[in-house]
Amino acid sequence: MIRVRFAPSPTGHLHVGGARTALFNFFFARANQGTFVLRVEDTDLARSTRESEQMVLDDLQWLGVEWDEGPDKPGDYGPYRQSERGEIYQQYAQRLLDNEKAYHCYCTDEELEQIRVDAQRRKVPPHYDGRCRNLSDSERQQRLDEGRKPTVRFRIPNRDYVLDDLVRGHVSFKQGMIGDFIILRSDGMPVYNFCVSIDDVLMKITHVIRAEEHLSNTLRQMMICEALEVNPPRYAHVSLILGEDRSKLSKRHGATSIGQYREQGYLPEAMVNYLSLLGWSSGSEEEVFDIERIIELFSLDRINKAAAVFDNDKLNWMNAHYIREADLQRITGLFLPYLKQADMVSHQIDLSQLQKEIDIIRGNCTVLADITEYYPIFLHQQPQLEDEGRAFLQLETSLPLLREVEKSVSEHDSIDSETWKQIAKQSGKLAKAKGKNLFMTLRVALTGKCRGPELDLLVPVLGKEQVLKRLQWAQS
Ligand code: GLU
Repeated sequence: MIRVRFAPSPTGHLHVGGARTALFNFFFARANQGTFVLRVEDTDLARSTRESEQMVLDDLQWLGVEWDEGPDKPGDYGPYRQSERGEIYQQYAQRLLDNEKAYHCYCTDEELEQIRVDAQRRKVPPHYDGRCRNLSDSERQQRLDEGRKPTVRFRIPNRDYVLDDLVRGHVSFKQGMIGDFIILRSDGMPVYNFCVSIDDVLMKITHVIRAEEHLSNTLRQMMICEALEVNPPRYAHVSLILGEDRSKLSKRHGATSIGQYREQGYLPEAMVNYLSLLGWSSGSEEEVFDIERIIELFSLDRINKAAAVFDNDKLNWMNAHYIREADLQRITGLFLPYLKQADMVSHQIDLSQLQKEIDIIRGNCTVLADITEYYPIFLHQQPQLEDEGRAFLQLETSLPLLREVEKSVSEHDSIDSETWKQIAKQSGKLAKAKGKNLFMTLRVALTGKCRGPELDLLVPVLGKEQVLKRLQWAQS
């Protein structure tokens, strides 16, 4: 039975890299009828908060990632917050001490600093030199009498290690890459690598899918599992996500947290679809798929070793696609807060009219927030004339054209798409306006803008009266 976990440290919003890791774990679990565990890694008490934990959980839920066990979903292997597992870590640290796989280290910060400085001078890696490895009882007592509080250090085996990574293949770690490392601090707090190893084993995690930057942690975790005489999980290290300049994705590249994307009006299905392609491919040309389809197609062997580049244009294209394709009622509900915030809708909303309007302009939106740029077309006020558009109202053909259109419109009871097309064509002929000059003049006359929805869709929703008013405005 496959069991995977996503293990966020609750120190801020969920980052896109974390979201991708969560999604890959989720896809893998669902694709294999496995279990997805959410484990909160909050041992860094100074930086972890419950608010951050909630933000991360909310972001995951928004993406549609569902966990089977977690802090809010009891299972057989809880508690699922590391801060609540202190006793477990103490027990295992004691076991390692008893087996002499770990030892007490009494070095002070000054001594450790000196070891680093000396190593630097001798141009060797700044590892702990193991001076407390084999202290006698009396040497230990002497240090305790001096009031020193020991840390617990793991005694690393002196040999090479090889990891059979599910993405990267054989990864070898040469002896000497790391030194004896701390597993319990002097205040008794366990250290990240130690907790993770214990939890992965006790929670019966079969596969650890996480970012490549954890590779050196993996070596430590493999060593701890070996010392505890348990099998480590299988590991799959996914490549980093880079910005378009090929440096590691960071704040300088713009939005990096799921919360920011959500606020700007990206849809969860667009984020899920886009993130799924950062380092994984379906094996076909297919790139636009919903979460169910990704789960159907997902397998670890199509995770790519090469770094993935975050392409904002592609994400935008996908988001625009999902905005166009979304259920109209749902998308109207999602646009509404943006309209409300911009004071563009009154309290008494005519929902069916609003849906018609939204349906016409959603095709112009890349993100939900863009609606406030196009929605004013429907407000019963004079269009706001864009500078760019002015020239189209000042062409030689503009006035005769607008006059002809106004005349024909007023002769009809109501204007549907076909009627509008006929009117535009006929009036263009009479006024000798063609192509861009014809269509842009009409567009600017009706909306004040050079870009926007198709006019034959817009006109029937605006209605005859509004169309006439605008045609008159454009001639004035
Ligand atoms: N808590 C770690 C992090 O947020 C995750 C470690 C892991 O996946 O093993 O980076």
